[in-house]
Amino acid sequence: MEETISSPLPPVPANSFTVCPQCHLPVRPEFYFCPNCGAKLHIPPLSTTIGMQIWIYLFSAVLPWIAYLAITKWQGMKYIRSSDPRARAIGYLALAILVLSSIIAIWLTTVWINQSISSAVSSVNNLGSFGGGGL
Ligand SMILES: [Zn+2]
Repeated sequence: MEETISSPLPPVPANSFTVCPQCHLPVRPEFYFCPNCGAKLHIPPLSTTIGMQIWIYLFSAVLPWIAYLAITKWQGMKYIRSSDPRARAIGYLALAILVLSSIIAIWLTTVWINQSISSAVSSVNNLGSFGGGGL
């Protein structure tokens, strides 16, 4: 007779639950994040796969150059400093677009981070129930 291992989360006795410090809902002690509010309960293990390493190293190498290009290739400051009022107007309009676009980018980044955290909560919690051995 085989044991039933159909459920990813085996039933646990009620006394093995702890309480989330943020929303006070019962959570399993091996959870890294609260499945209800997303509060961090333990520090999850970081991925050390070769793919993740390549991604981090590549990103670290490329990121300063993206910032370099963004700063040096923006022509708006030349226009703002111009003595020609028409060119100055173009410069200020470019600055307004830059600020507005930055606000949208920051807002989208915030949305992306929140979505990543909520989707990571369930997967990391499932990872934790297998003893953190990785997938
Ligand atoms: Zn919670």
